[in-house]
Amino acid sequence: MTTTDCIFCKIIAGDIPCWKVLETETVLAFLDVGPLAEGHVLVIPKEHHATLDGMPEDLAADCARVVVRVSRAVREALGADGWNVLQNNGRVSGQAVDHVHFHVIPRRDGDGLGYRWNAGKLGEEAAERVLATLQKSLG
Ligand code: AMP
Ligand code: ZN
Repeated sequence: MTTTDCIFCKIIAGDIPCWKVLETETVLAFLDVGPLAEGHVLVIPKEHHATLDGMPEDLAADCARVVVRVSRAVREALGADGWNVLQNNGRVSGQAVDHVHFHVIPRRDGDGLGYRWNAGKLGEEAAERVLATLQKSLG
C-alpha cells in the first residue's frame, strides 16, 4: 500500500532521493534531512501506515529489528554515548509525516539536546482506572 501524496512513499518508490542507510524486504532506513544530531536515522516500513496502531505487528517487528541494527551502528561506528528512539503518532505528539517512522537519534555527552520529561506521580485511583480501561481494550 502506498499513497501518492506521502513523501516517505515517494522515497520508497524512488521518486524522491534519500541517503539510504539500510534496506530490507519490508523496511527502509535513511538519514533524516533535518537531523537533531549527526547520524539521525529514520526507520520506516515500506508499506504505508499513518500511525503505529494501524500497522501489522509483524511489520512493526521488522522495523524494530532494523532499529536495533541501526542502534548498534550508531554506538559502534558513530561512537554515540547513547541514543533516543522516538516514534511520534498524531499532531499532538509532534508527528509531521503521516507515514510511520522511528527516529534513531545519536546522543553525545554535552550535545545540549536535552529532553523534557515532566513526570507526574501515579496515584492509586488513576492506576486502577487506567489499568482497567487498558486491560478491557487489550482483551
Ligand atoms: P516527525 O515530526 O516525527 O513526523 O518527523 C518527520 C521527520 O522527517 C523530520 O525529522 C524531518 O526532518 C524528516 N523528513 C521530512 N522529509 C524528509 C526527507 N525527504 N528525507 C529525509 N527526512 C525527511
Ligand atoms: Zn507513505
